Order: sequence, then structure tokens, then C-alpha cells
Amino acid sequence: MSSIVLKSIRKSWGDVDALHAIDLRIDSGTFCVLLGPSGCGKSTTLRIIAGLEGASGGQVLIDGADVTDRPPSARGISMVFQNYALFPHLSVAENIGFGLSVRKVPAAEARARVQEAAALLGLQALLERKPSQLSGGQQQRVALGRALVARAKVCLMDEPLSNLDAQLRQEMRRELRELQRALGLTVVYVTHDQAEAMSMADQVVLLNRGRIEQAGTAQALYLRPATTFAARFVGTPPMNLLRLDEGRIAGSNYDTGLAAATLGIRPESIVLDPSGIPALVDSTEYLGADRVLHCRIGSESLLVRTDGRQPAEAGQQLGLRWSPQDAHGFDAQGARID
Ligand code: ADP
Ligand code: MG
Repeated sequence: MSSIVLKSIRKSWGDVDALHAIDLRIDSGTFCVLLGPSGCGKSTTLRIIAGLEGASGGQVLIDGADVTDRPPSARGISMVFQNYALFPHLSVAENIGFGLSVRKVPAAEARARVQEAAALLGLQALLERKPSQLSGGQQQRVALGRALVARAKVCLMDEPLSNLDAQLRQEMRRELRELQRALGLTVVYVTHDQAEAMSMADQVVLLNRGRIEQAGTAQALYLRPATTFAARFVGTPPMNLLRLDEGRIAGSNYDTGLAAATLGIRPESIVLDPSGIPALVDSTEYLGADRVLHCRIGSESLLVRTDGRQPAEAGQQLGLRWSPQDAHGFDAQGARID
């Protein structure tokens, strides 16, 4: 088993506090995604789990053991980075097996492990090639192979797919997820891409300015965002946030009946209904399957996601409707009200 527990992990550089008391439990064999905007502390958290960075306070437990003071090599982890830095003068086989020769694993066993990793990743036919003779996706697989031959049960990945084009990234997400399940790995995966997080994670940990904003399944974050930050970060287009003035949508007569400072409503939860709340279309965006309408109610702007076949144009008056269970209330500090 290989669970990971962070207890009150803090990190400061001089007077910059990068992490404030992070408490987190990652169950063995699960795929955990650290998600958040640039600079929120994702890489710092990952590097502290790896032991590449020391914490300013708190503890790291792997598989129940306190590893806070252990070097990376004694933590039973492997790592994959964004710039996977393969050695250009070594073959694919030598790149995959590099860590094993450094660790003095006997040659016969090292060969067997390289073969096994290559088979898992579909690289058998490419073992004699140099990295420059591989596509981006194949290079990424070699970097993964390097992590897999270590046979560590915990694999830490920092934006490993961000150098790949959109289609390949999608394929690799699926491959990675299958590999993680098949090998029973505990993966901690860093990304700033919410779609990537939603599609891969058992557990999403959303970070904001060095704090955990919300942690849970992708569905939990989507269906019940804990804060306005989480509401805007997860889902595309993001959730609409409308200012309320004593329950009325600001600048309008429409009373929501909510005792909240802000009404959150997802663009895909709104339907067109002539007898609904009057709204003005400011502009429209055609996306093929969908059309996104930029609308206004009173002084508040909101997006409405409709069928791409739905005709709509700027300047048009529409009626909008949504179900009460799709309305999210937030207080003046941005915290969810239930
Ligand atoms: P992310 O990976 O989410 O983009 P990081 O974990 O790299 O964010 O950084 C979190 C914060 O810590 C940022 O404000 C960053 O500038 C700061 N930081 C990261 N590494 C260092 C460092 N070596 N020295 C000083 N500040 C750092
Ligand atoms: Mg980073």
C-alpha cells in the first residue's frame, strides 16, 4: 500500500508564503490531481512530497511512515516532469534503464525491467532509436518508462503532457489513466488545466494562493463548488456569478428568493423560455455543437450555453429560466451557502 498524507505542510521563501498549512490525504492506488492557476503552489507541494524541496513546517507520510527528513531516493517514489529531458546521445532502452544502472541493478534484471516497461508503453520496436528519432508522444512515453522501471508505487507528475498537442494529450491522458489502474499506482498529478483534472482524477485538490480551496471528486467540485473561486475554476464556460441586491439580480426586478450576496448559475443549466426572466443578448459565439450567448439581466452579464442550431443574434430579447436546484448561493466572502 502507498497512501500519502500531508500534515500542516508549510513552505516559505523569505517573506513569501508559498504554502499555508496544507492538510491532505491521498489514498493508495488513487489518481490525485493538484489543480490551480499558475503560482498557487502545485509544484511546490509535489516537490515537497518528492523530497526535492524541504518543508518549512509539517510532515509528509508515505505508506504510514514519516519521510519528512528522508532524501528523495529513500521515499519509494518516481517522478515525471514537463520537460522530460531525455539524454539525446542514449538510445530509448538506455534512457529507460538509466536510473537502474545508476542504482547498480544487475544487468539481466535491468534488461528485463526495461523490456517490461517498453511492452506496457508500446515502445518495443523503438528501443534502439535515439530520442531525436521519436515523436513528441513517443518521447513522453520514454519519460514514463523511466519512471515505471523504478517500480515505485508512488508516481509524481508535474504537467507531464503540456508539451504535446491537443489530440495527443487526450490520448495520453487515457493511456496514463489505464496504466495507473493496471499497475495500482498512487499518482499525484499536477496540472493547471481543469478539463485534464476532471477527466483523470479520482480526487481533485484545487489550490488557490497556497491553500486548499476544495478537495473532492470531479463531480463534487462541479456540482457543489465550495467557493466562488472553485465555481469559476471548474467547468467551461465558467459558472456565472450574478450580484444580488436584497435577493434581486442587481439592476433588475427579478427576485431570486435567495439570501445570498451572489447567485451562481452554470451556462449549461439555463434554458430559453419566452415566459422566463427577460434578458438582452449582447453577442453570440458559435462553437459547432453549442452556441454561447452573452446576455444581460439588469446590470449583470451572464453566459448561456444553447444548442448550436439555436438561432440567436445580438440585440435580441430572450426569456431565461433555470431550476431552483441549479442555483448556487454564495456569501459576501465567496463561501457557499446551503
Ligand atoms: P505552481 O506550480 O502552482 O505554478 P509553484 O509551486 O511553482 O506554483 O510556486 C508557488 C509560489 O512559490 C509562487 O509564488 C512562486 O513564485 C514561489 N516560488 C516557487 N519556487 C520558489 C523559489 N525557489 N524561490 C522563491 N519563490 C518560489
Ligand atoms: Mg508548477
